[in-house]
Amino acid sequence: MSNVTIRDIKTILTEPENIRLVIVKVETSEPGLYGLGCATFTQRPTAVAAAVDDYLRPFLLGRNVADIEDIWQSSYVSSYWRNGPVLNNALSGVDQALWDIKGKMADMPVYDLLGGRAREAAPVYVHASGPTREEVGDKMQAFLEQGFHHVRIQVETPGYASYGTGRGLTEADLEYGRGGAVGDKSLPLEGPRPVTTWVRPQEEGKRYAHPGGVFEPKPYMRSTLDLFEYVRDRFGYGVEILHDVHERIPPILGVWFAKEVEKYQLFFLEDLFSPEDNDYFRMVREQTSTPIAMGELWNSPHEVIPMIKDRLIDFIRIHLSQIGGITPARKIAAMGELFNVRTAWHGPGDTSPVGHAANMMLNLNTYNFGIQEAAIPGERTREMFPGMPTLKDGMMWSNGKPGLGIDIDEKMAAKFPFKEREFGGAWDTVRRADGTMVKP
Ligand SMILES: [Mg+2]
Repeated sequence: MSNVTIRDIKTILTEPENIRLVIVKVETSEPGLYGLGCATFTQRPTAVAAAVDDYLRPFLLGRNVADIEDIWQSSYVSSYWRNGPVLNNALSGVDQALWDIKGKMADMPVYDLLGGRAREAAPVYVHASGPTREEVGDKMQAFLEQGFHHVRIQVETPGYASYGTGRGLTEADLEYGRGGAVGDKSLPLEGPRPVTTWVRPQEEGKRYAHPGGVFEPKPYMRSTLDLFEYVRDRFGYGVEILHDVHERIPPILGVWFAKEVEKYQLFFLEDLFSPEDNDYFRMVREQTSTPIAMGELWNSPHEVIPMIKDRLIDFIRIHLSQIGGITPARKIAAMGELFNVRTAWHGPGDTSPVGHAANMMLNLNTYNFGIQEAAIPGERTREMFPGMPTLKDGMMWSNGKPGLGIDIDEKMAAKFPFKEREFGGAWDTVRRADGTMVKP
């Protein structure tokens, strides 16, 4: 029994590498004992901070840190209306921090509290995106030489532009199939001619979180199939390739695409449909054995239940902080085990290092682990978050220290505040050639 209580809850807002991170720090009545949690919702970070500072903090001060389950359940309904990325991320920040504290008090890493390890390290996949299939192949080659075995490949769709004005293309542009410039004669233009004037131009010297652009499903599918053909021809079938559709194609074309890619033997095909179109996965299942991954846009375990119990997906791609932290995620992982559906927790750059540490606790403990998405952190991030999981031999490794095994240099974090962005840092709109908005 312990009588350690929550003395204070703080949010730390920092941006070490051009992605806005939200970290929650729970301080306890025990001097020097605190925990960290990831609450990063990079598109609405200050809303999450308000949900923690204005609502969870006063609700939870003085509570016994040992009672994670009760704190999660009572906080979840403390707003009466629940679910959704803002409140779930706020709750995740506290939840992960409490698991961190519990581990420190027990002198055990969190995976030991959960029952111990099912493996020594977590295989990861990394991202190779580029303007041409050859450049994607070259990036993939470099990853394979570094020991990675799983690579997600994305290529730009020729002829569809982000309406850039001389700025350098970002990874996001390449990944989402936007690039080049309107009217670039060097690019073969397949599909309809973009006539929309609704894609907002980007101005030199301004910062955009995720610029808009033009997207057309059939040219995208053709260029992606061409990429798979090229990569299998160049590297053979001894390496694993993955691909993210980002939901944007009409569902029946998604069914066709999943069938068409079967011959390339993907490790998984991700985000084929918007969460509103979950029922289309039944059609995919009846027609192809292409492995299916889905889940980063899901908010509630109740969206997940039919997908697992009817075996409509192979990999659960939930973003841990988006559903409320370790407490709900470990239950979904356990449900997945009963149906032999594997985990592949969301883990790009907008999962903070604390979030990656939390993912690793489940990756090591969960028998039905599938793979972990990894982002290669920069030097500044590694320095700001001592103890963050490391990448070696194509795997992610935990340091085995108590709790989540990670810390934050708060003085350094304060030196890298959020930068100003256009539209408050919102994702801008992607449109069809005629101007219709494309839903992710
Ligand atoms: Mg995705």
